[in-house]
Amino acid sequence: MYMLELCRILDISVNELLTGEFIEERNYQQKAEDNLLMMADQEVKQTKKMFFYENVIGIGSTSIFLILIFISVYFVENSVLKVILFILSFIFLIIGVSIALKIETEEGYYECQKCHHKYIPSYQQVYFAMHYGRTRYMKCPHCQKRSWQKKIYSK
Ligand SMILES: [Zn+2]
Repeated sequence: MYMLELCRILDISVNELLTGEFIEERNYQQKAEDNLLMMADQEVKQTKKMFFYENVIGIGSTSIFLILIFISVYFVENSVLKVILFILSFIFLIIGVSIALKIETEEGYYECQKCHHKYIPSYQQVYFAMHYGRTRYMKCPHCQKRSWQKKIYSK
C-alpha cells in the first residue's frame, strides 16, 4: 500500500508510476520516427515535382529548337534571318538542356551499385556520364568504383 500512497501524493496512477517514463520515451521515439518519415516523404514529393519540371523544360526547349529550325529551313528566305533563327534555336536548346541537367544533378541522389553509397555528384560528372533514362555510369566518391548508378528520390 506504500505504492498507492506514493501515487496519491504525486497525483498519478499506479500505471503511470510503473510505466510512465517508459511510455513517454517510446512516444518520443515514435514521434521522431514519424517526423523522419514525413520529411523523407516530403523530399520524395519535392524531387518528383522537380523531375516533372525537368521533363517540361527538356521537352519544351527541344520542341522550340525543332520548330525554329523548321521555320528557318522552310519559311525564311532571308539568309541573315535564317542564321539568326539557327543561333536562337541552339541557344534555347543549350539553356533548356543545362537547366534540365542541373535539376537532374541536384534533385535526389545517385546510389552506387557496389557499396550503396548515396550522394549528389558534380554537374560535370553528370554531364559527361553515359546514361539511359536517369541511370548514369559514374565513379563513386566513396569506393571509387564505376557502376550504373540509379537515381533515388530520398536517402
Ligand atoms: Zn561505391
